Formats: sequence, C-alpha cells, structure tokens
Amino acid sequence: MDESTERVNPGAIQDTFGRPLKSLRLSVTDRCNLRCRYCMPETDYVWLPREDVLSFEEIATLTGYFVDLGVDRVRLTGGEPLLRRDLPRLIRLLSQNRGISEIALTTNGVLLADQAQELYDAGLHRVTVSLDTLRPDRFRRLTGRDEFSRVLEGIEAAASVGFPDLKLDTVAIRGFNDDELIALIEYAKHYHAEVRFIEYMDVGGANEWSMDKVLSRDLMLEHIHRHYGEITPIPGRGAAPAQRYCLPNETTFGIIPSTTNPFCAQCDRSRVTADGMWYLCLYAIGGMDLRKPLRLGAGPEHMRQIIRDGWTGRRDRGAEARKDLEAVGLREGGLIGIERLREDPHLEMHARGG
Ligand code: SAM
Ligand code: SF4
Ligand code: SF4
Repeated sequence: MDESTERVNPGAIQDTFGRPLKSLRLSVTDRCNLRCRYCMPETDYVWLPREDVLSFEEIATLTGYFVDLGVDRVRLTGGEPLLRRDLPRLIRLLSQNRGISEIALTTNGVLLADQAQELYDAGLHRVTVSLDTLRPDRFRRLTGRDEFSRVLEGIEAAASVGFPDLKLDTVAIRGFNDDELIALIEYAKHYHAEVRFIEYMDVGGANEWSMDKVLSRDLMLEHIHRHYGEITPIPGRGAAPAQRYCLPNETTFGIIPSTTNPFCAQCDRSRVTADGMWYLCLYAIGGMDLRKPLRLGAGPEHMRQIIRDGWTGRRDRGAEARKDLEAVGLREGGLIGIERLREDPHLEMHARGG
C-alpha cells in the first residue's frame, strides 16, 4: 500500500499532539558491516551485550502489543539487519500477525543478493536499499569498505525477485555526492525503483555533520529542475516522510527534508532497539526499557499499559527542535558528544535504527 494514501487506523492511540501510533522501526542488531561516515565513522564501538539482545520470539511478542494499540507498519533496520542470522524467521513470525499490513526492510544491500529470495518467500513486503553513490571510489571513502559491487548485486537481486516499490535511499551531502543526483535517479529508474534523497541529519555524535554539508531540498530541486525541466509534486504525503515528485518523463523520486523542513507534526513512528529500549523520537535522549518487564513476565495488559502511557504522553518533535536552535545560532555539530555516546551506545543512530 502506498504510505501516502493510507488511512489512519481510527483505533490507534494518539500522543499529545494527536499523532497516532502507527509505524514501528525494529532495530534487530546494532552491528554493521560498513562504517558510513555520517552514521558510524569510528572503527570500534561499545556494542550492546549479546544477552540483552531480544530473541525473535520476544520481538514478535513485543510487536504484537504495539499492533494491539495501533501499529500496522513495521520496518526492520539496524545496524545492518541482514547481519542478524536467519532474519526470514522473524519475518515469518511477524507475518502471522494479521494486524500488520506492511513489513519492510532497510538495508545497506551488502548481503542482499544472497538473501533476497528467502526474504521475499518469508513474506517481506518492501525493501529499501541505501545507496549514496554510483562511484566505487566514493563508496569506499564513505563506507570504509570495498563492498560497492555487492550492493549493486543486492539491488539487482531485489529487483529481479520482484519486490514491489523498491526504494533507494541516498543521503545527499554537499561536496560529496551532489553531482550524482541525476545519475541516481536514472539508475533507480532502470530497476523500476524510486530514489529518495535524504537531507543529512545531525543525529549521532561523531558523524561529521555540519550545516554546510546539508544539501537542502530546495537546492536539490533546483539542480534536478535544471536537468529535466518542470517538477510536479505528487499530492497526498500523509504521514510519510518523503515528499514525492514527478518529472516530465514520468519518472518519480522523493525528498526527505528532515533537516530543513522536518515532518514532526505528522510523525507516527517510534523505534525499538535490538535490546528492547523504546524511543519515541530519533532525537530522543532517553528511552523506555521494555525488555526488563517483558523478561520479568509482565502480562499483555501490563505491557500495553506501559506503551499506552509512553505514547499518550509523547511530546517529541526532535528535528523541529533542532531547527529552532538553528534559528538562534545554537545548532552546532552533532546532537550528542562522543564521550556521552561511549557511556550509552543506544544514543547512536546505528543502535536505534535510523
Ligand atoms: N544499515 C542499514 C542501511 O544503511 O540502510 C539500515 C540502518 S541505517 C542507520 C538507516 C538509514 O539511516 C540509512 O538509509 C542511512 O543512510 C540513514 N542515515 C544514517 N545516518 C544518517 C544521517 N546522519 N543523516 C541522514 N540519514 C542517515
Ligand atoms: Fe551505514 Fe547503515 Fe551501517 Fe549506518 S547502519 S554505517 S548507515 S550501513
Ligand atoms: Fe518524528 Fe522525532 Fe523524526 Fe520528528 S525528529 S519526525 S518527531 S522521529
């Protein structure tokens, strides 16, 4: 189903701004096989203790409580979700829940070629592959790894297996890939996929963010317009973060202007980390520990009450708040300092799932 045309489940609980609990991002691991400079620039990290990482059964049970309260879309992410052994088994477990209308995956694509068919057979509905450049040398510089060809093989495999709505997510960075927007649109078109350009965000701590590296939505549109001519916005964005556009040749693409035009007002998503911490916002400093009550044997009503209390008290609008700081000249560098990140690895983007 197209995110933008989807109707809000009238049964979903709402937060203090009337935003429904609808979309859940499940980080299945904090580990990753790449080291993207905007996300995990360091070589080593403090990893979540293995015994704390939720089993697939625990994830499915927890997800069930969220679904009871309104969630109907689930996205598996990470770290790199395909590093988690036997991910198709989790997809099969989640598929048994009739309240979930969409199970999606965000991956860096490195391991996708080997797993695409099995993921599809398990019931995965949609795949988004992150691809920031079409140049192998840039890919290596950005990710610290020589895996470019495997990512392209992964995209090819996902397209040939037949995933509908294949998406490619590109973080647009000034001075890095701003000369590749057209090439990426054309590349995606070749695979009947849609590229979505994401503005660089100042989450994380060591991610080398600065405002002058942000390629804004307006600049992207200007650049794309210069090449193709008229760009028509596609109406009906709903709670989807991407504004979609159509080119004169009917090719479509999206922009997620998280930094210059945040979509907090419509945000219906929250995140559970691999060890069961629940974050109400990508920028939230604190989360709620759901693993503890789950493992202590809290029953369904107790677990639902914790989630209900959390969501109905939600006031988060992290990206808008960051933008407000910019207006008064106080937005500098990343959100969280490196020392604080070492104390609490949950605060990293790769732990909470982007
Ligand atoms: N490893 C998987 C991947 O890269 O697709 C899934 C996890 S990753 C954290 C999810 C998404 O967050 C990716 O598309 C990545 O490009 C995006 N991301 C990470 N850091 C970002 C940043 N500073 N600004 C914007 N997007 C970012
Ligand atoms: Fe890159 Fe995704 Fe890994 Fe972050 S989690 S370093 S975005 S591949
Ligand atoms: Fe939602 Fe927080 Fe992102 Fe705003 S910053 S869109 S509230 S997750």
